[in-house]
Amino acid sequence: MYNDQDQKYLDQFDELSAYPINNYESIIGKNEVLSIKDLAHSLEERKWVHVNSTFEGGGVAEMLKSVVPIAKGLGIDCKWYCIEGDENFYSITKRFHNIIQGLDQHFTLEDLLETYIETNKRNFEHNKIFSDMTIVHDPQPCASIVHGDYEGKLIWRCHIDTSEANEMIWNFLLPYINNYDGVIFSMKEFAKKGIKKPVYQVAPAIDPLSKKNRQRTHKEALNTLEDLFKEHKIDAERPIVLAVSRYDIHKNQKTIIKAFKELKKSADIRKLKPQLIMVGNLASDDPEGKEMYAEILDFIDGDPDIYALLNIPNNDENIGALMKMAQVYIHVSNKEGFGLVVTEAMWQGAPVIGSNVGGITLQVIGGKTGYLVDPYDVERIVAYTKFLLLNDEEREKLSYYGVEHVRKNFLVTTLVKKYLVLMRFLLGIDFPYFRIEI
Ligand code: UDP
Repeated sequence: MYNDQDQKYLDQFDELSAYPINNYESIIGKNEVLSIKDLAHSLEERKWVHVNSTFEGGGVAEMLKSVVPIAKGLGIDCKWYCIEGDENFYSITKRFHNIIQGLDQHFTLEDLLETYIETNKRNFEHNKIFSDMTIVHDPQPCASIVHGDYEGKLIWRCHIDTSEANEMIWNFLLPYINNYDGVIFSMKEFAKKGIKKPVYQVAPAIDPLSKKNRQRTHKEALNTLEDLFKEHKIDAERPIVLAVSRYDIHKNQKTIIKAFKELKKSADIRKLKPQLIMVGNLASDDPEGKEMYAEILDFIDGDPDIYALLNIPNNDENIGALMKMAQVYIHVSNKEGFGLVVTEAMWQGAPVIGSNVGGITLQVIGGKTGYLVDPYDVERIVAYTKFLLLNDEEREKLSYYGVEHVRKNFLVTTLVKKYLVLMRFLLGIDFPYFRIEI
């Protein structure tokens, strides 16, 4: 066991207090809670660290805000650190993100050596992480395995869709990746050639007890949204088509707008007077968001039935409430590691139209928990949206199966359970049943 007394660390998220696993019993059942406690038993007081590059915005930060407190509640000494970089670093790592997800991007040697590697190095100049298991999330801190300073077992957890990653950038990252003790992807298809370490498949998950995801009644949701709706002059009586995500090229928000404009041309639909509400925020490690938001506003071109909101107040409560109210939820990214928002929307009972891309396909089972479309297939998006807006029974059916699919597969308790098995394996206690051969 490692002793971190007198140790100076990286920037630490320290507002997270322990959260008891027993609180999840009403959602996952007593047996599941007992099995998680059982796994954690031999890990009490062991050290478990997460390293990423932002405390706010995006799916990783969202999950860590629950995983860390639950681990603490189980008696594990769990901490979350963030590497810090300047604007240039985030611009480079955003380009990493884009090029890994298939966009054409350019890097200079200086970008890679002076900014990316140097930032990873600098974050550890006065810091060392001692931990039984450290999970390093995504490409931003990936190189810290070599240029940082760690002691203990290390796992690289990749949250993005790497299936078509540009060879050059993949080959640049590969020596780093192969220095870890293992790699986690959300889907088997994301594990590209060249990985020489054990690979695991672990899907992301949501916390059903968080402010955003707690299940609420329609009436409660309406109350929550009162101020937001007043501020933006949104009529609560009109059906809501909803889309929530960072303003980002891969989230393909323009297609949603195009489809909604098309949808309004139908006479049946015009009678219903639906409105499209888009909600987005800016992640601190994503420098492109502002520009994308401006483009989206331009693209909406003053359509009075489309709202594109940015950084809404009371974010978590309002997003959960909007998802509860949504008659249709659309998420048609052209690349998607997972798309936590899909699970969040399904958990609130929103019928989902998702693109047949990356991790969305784990969540949306066509015709059962939602509908799958090609990301740019405006015609189908319009057809499914119309069908759902006009069919209460179909919405109820998708909603029911959506909730149950999430309960079984995408709650944070399942995620923590897999991490615990992995930790036990790294410490020589267990063998993880979710290891995959590639
Ligand atoms: N999110 C939010 N407010 C917003 C937009 C997004 O809280 O205005 C949250 C969203 O609810 C989800 C996360 O940000 O929890 C986005 O995760 P996802 O995996 O969908 O996408 P990522 O941003 O990681 O690509």
